[in-house]
Amino acid sequence: METVNGRRRFLQGLGATLAAGMLPARAAEATGRDVVVIGAGSAGLAAAGSLVAAGLDVLVLEARNRIGGRAHTDTQSVGVAWDRGCSWLHSSAANPLVGVARAADFEVFEDRYPRAVYDGARRLAEAEVAPLTELSARISREIAAAGERGLDVAAELALSQATRADPWFAMAASASTAWEGVEFSNYSALDQHRYVAQGPDFLIRQGYGALLSQQGRELPLRLSTPVSRVRWQAAGATVDTPAGSLRTRAVVVAVPAPIVAQGALVFSPGLSAEVLQAHHDLPLGLMNKVALRFKRSVFPAERTEFLRLRRNDQRGMSYMTRLWDSNVCIGMSAGALAQELEGAGEAAAIDHALGELTRMLGEGVRKHFDRGTATAWASDPWSRGAYSHCVPGRFGARQLLGAPVAGRIVFAGEHTQQQAYGTCHGAWLSGLRAAGQVRALLGR
Ligand SMILES: Cc1cc2nc3c(=O)[nH]c(=O)nc-3n(C[C@H](O)[C@H](O)[C@H](O)COP(=O)(O)OP(=O)(O)OC[C@H]3O[C@@H](n4cnc5c(N)ncnc54)[C@H](O)[C@@H]3O)c2cc1C
Repeated sequence: METVNGRRRFLQGLGATLAAGMLPARAAEATGRDVVVIGAGSAGLAAAGSLVAAGLDVLVLEARNRIGGRAHTDTQSVGVAWDRGCSWLHSSAANPLVGVARAADFEVFEDRYPRAVYDGARRLAEAEVAPLTELSARISREIAAAGERGLDVAAELALSQATRADPWFAMAASASTAWEGVEFSNYSALDQHRYVAQGPDFLIRQGYGALLSQQGRELPLRLSTPVSRVRWQAAGATVDTPAGSLRTRAVVVAVPAPIVAQGALVFSPGLSAEVLQAHHDLPLGLMNKVALRFKRSVFPAERTEFLRLRRNDQRGMSYMTRLWDSNVCIGMSAGALAQELEGAGEAAAIDHALGELTRMLGEGVRKHFDRGTATAWASDPWSRGAYSHCVPGRFGARQLLGAPVAGRIVFAGEHTQQQAYGTCHGAWLSGLRAAGQVRALLGR
């Protein structure tokens, strides 16, 4: 059913510049497209942009009423633009979105903000935190050593007794959990070893989500159009949505792995057991954020810093203070803590963050608190988590999903990119790879 509202959403998604050149939806359905891209996150947008540039007839179908997926800049809730999803441009030396951002006049810069640790209300001197820095480096070395040996085991098993017994272990473990979204026992040491970091992390002032939205503005896409099924045959495929079915010659499936693993998007005939299993092997761990707005600055420095409270458990969060010189602070939780806080609700997540900040910075934190909000990525039906990790023993799943299926279906998404998995630029790179594969399949 192509409703007036549906059309309005379609036009909003396209932006005025495209509206002049677009095909009426009905005509397109009759003739079929060269390519349907499912999902307007980083991967889907990169794939679609590349295919459109190559002259193919492309349509992006997006379940949400916005584009960007896990890249989402919120400009409303606390009065300052902040990223509910990704915010760092990792691996700046190999991250194509750095150039994309600069070309679009977005401000990108290296994250050189200071990091500080508090022991209760006492700010630790650099020398006191040095053992934590050394322990984090040792953990990386131990996991890398297991990876070097090709050990596809839980990262936990790569860690020495001395490392686990270190008094700073809980703090160092929290930082690792933030990277993978799950604790050491849940992800493959080999998979982490195959991630390649290249260059320092950058930040983007206007927001990573805002950049993705801008990139998608001129692409042919339909919002609020979830695809429930892909029916594929030798000669092409048909995708089913609540608004009807569309014929296409090829499909780029750029949705998070759990969407396929959990049957929110099904294939007919079904995917091979191997391909379906690979989606199960790349579940999404969790990171959530809280944005806290204060009536006045409650922070120790005028400039932005990252603060953490020393704890002996893994219930600590990391706080970015004075976001873009405002009185807004962004707190980040990951893994089991993030799961627990998301389950307990927004108020509980905010309270946990205010509690930690109060222990570090004093009662002024609660006194001057204005308002806050929290993300809930695990219960978001279109993401079902934050970013993928590889289940121990299942290394190879990412590569498997990087190959076309049945000559018609190509998977994209951060989970399909080995060297930059879990990241927005990894998703982007996977989209470019998928576009190349589709062109080869279609001989274009
Ligand atoms: C809190 C958080 C912090 C993060 N921090 C960073 C960071 O600092 N740096 C970094 O590089 N990465 C970070 N990431 C990870 C990064 O955001 C993701 O890896 C990346 O955005 C994933 O892009 P994608 O295209 O693979 O998937 P997505 O962005 O999830 O896009 C998939 C799209 O498919 C749509 N979709 C799903 N199902 C259907 C369907 N059935 N039909 C149609 N559409 C569908 C979704 O709505 C979505 O728009 C973070 C993520 C989170 C959640």
